[in-house]
Amino acid sequence: MSRSPAAYHLRDRQVVVLEAEGHAGGVCLPGSYQGVSYPAGSAYFYYPWSAEWLKWYRDLGLDPDAALVADPSNALFFRGAWIPDCFSQQGLKCLPLGPAALDKLLRLAEELAAWEEEWEPLGSETLHQAEWDRYSLQEYLEKVRGLPGEVTRLFAPYCASCLGAGPEEVSAWAGLYFLMSEFSPSTRTAAFPEGNARLIGALLDNLPAPPRFRQVVVGVRPAWDGVRLMVMDAAAREPYCLEAGAVILAVGKFTARKLLVPETGWNPSDFEPFRYSSYVVAALCGHVSLEAPGYENWVAEEETFSDFILTPRQGGHDRRVMVVFAPQPPPRERQRLLKEDPPTRAGRILAAADRLFPGLKGEIEEIHLYRFGHAQVVAYPGFLTWLKSRFPPSKGRIILSSADSEGLPCIEAAIVQGQKAARQARELLRL
Ligand SMILES: Cc1cc2nc3c(=O)[nH]c(=O)nc-3n(C[C@H](O)[C@H](O)[C@H](O)COP(=O)(O)OP(=O)(O)OC[C@H]3O[C@@H](n4cnc5c(N)ncnc54)[C@H](O)[C@@H]3O)c2cc1C
Repeated sequence: MSRSPAAYHLRDRQVVVLEAEGHAGGVCLPGSYQGVSYPAGSAYFYYPWSAEWLKWYRDLGLDPDAALVADPSNALFFRGAWIPDCFSQQGLKCLPLGPAALDKLLRLAEELAAWEEEWEPLGSETLHQAEWDRYSLQEYLEKVRGLPGEVTRLFAPYCASCLGAGPEEVSAWAGLYFLMSEFSPSTRTAAFPEGNARLIGALLDNLPAPPRFRQVVVGVRPAWDGVRLMVMDAAAREPYCLEAGAVILAVGKFTARKLLVPETGWNPSDFEPFRYSSYVVAALCGHVSLEAPGYENWVAEEETFSDFILTPRQGGHDRRVMVVFAPQPPPRERQRLLKEDPPTRAGRILAAADRLFPGLKGEIEEIHLYRFGHAQVVAYPGFLTWLKSRFPPSKGRIILSSADSEGLPCIEAAIVQGQKAARQARELLRL
């Protein structure tokens, strides 16, 4: 995805975009069922928090106001009941927790919402409150804040879905950074029917030339006056060579480590700290009659999936799609994912959704299943500190850019990385 914002910010230059797949956008994947659009991967973004950010969307021809989701944007299923608007002070008060735990949780939510005001923006070179990166979110909640384990478990679906692993695995810094936005009353969620794929479409529409699809970069090496790429055209048998003044390698580091020859200055071991989770998304399609309690619906204590989004009723259409997100934290779930065949996985997800909403199974006509291998970079304790202080984002004329360069798996991280890479390319080429 981050190649699209990078190319967009370099659209006044001669830019060639190579994309391995037959479509752009990576995990920003659109889905469709009988005319009903749904997000098959990345779904929502935060309403732009500054005038500059808002202008960025508008310049692309996008209207974030029209994309604002209806309240409540979040709901949580916990101990047999739905709690709408679960991250607001009012929602938190509905949680079945003891008075001491609730009091501490309310204070944490209030402090986090206030911290958002002073926090360094995405893309910053340093780590604000770096000490939080030393321990896990679970340690922070239970040892630093004295909250009981049941509060940690409340955040488990959120962490798995948004950060790729549970509260015991993700760094407190990453967990709190994400939760800050949820607890903040000024943050609003926005989503297009096909999810963040709409953003990719807008970025591509604004490029002078479309990407070259099915062009797989298989090697990158420095050249006398720039960079040489080896590329496989999916339709041809022989690879070909491309030379460029500079290259923005906007692929996950699990791929970059295989493409960069040692002459670039990088070695495969430089990338070892990058870890990833996998993801399964199941689109349950049919005459879905249920009403969702919120836009994003989190389900605590359910191991098959973490959350779901239900498409709104669309102009007289009686078909809808329940998009179920089933993150697969490493390493245990990844093993299972590789072993289990798709129909079994789809059946397990449908059965779990039917337990939550009895009768749903009878309404489902089709299940579309999507698997993302290296879906999200996992910010485990210490990773972000290492990333900011030790990992060089570029060497020579090769710039590495992707959401994982930010260390956080969100659409804003991919955009910020694309913008940064474009700026760096201009500096390198003295444009
Ligand atoms: C299921 C799911 C749901 C998500 N939901 C949200 C959400 O609702 N909100 C949010 O903010 N974030 C969400 N995210 C996270 C966020 O969308 C991603 O972190 C971000 O979009 C990743 O962008 P990227 O550019 O780093 O990587 P990718 O999207 O993975 O893009 C990499 C691109 O590189 C191409 N490529 C790879 N190798 C090569 C090669 N050798 N040659 C040429 N091209 C190559 C790929 O085909 C792909 O197009 C979600 C992620 C997943 C997996």
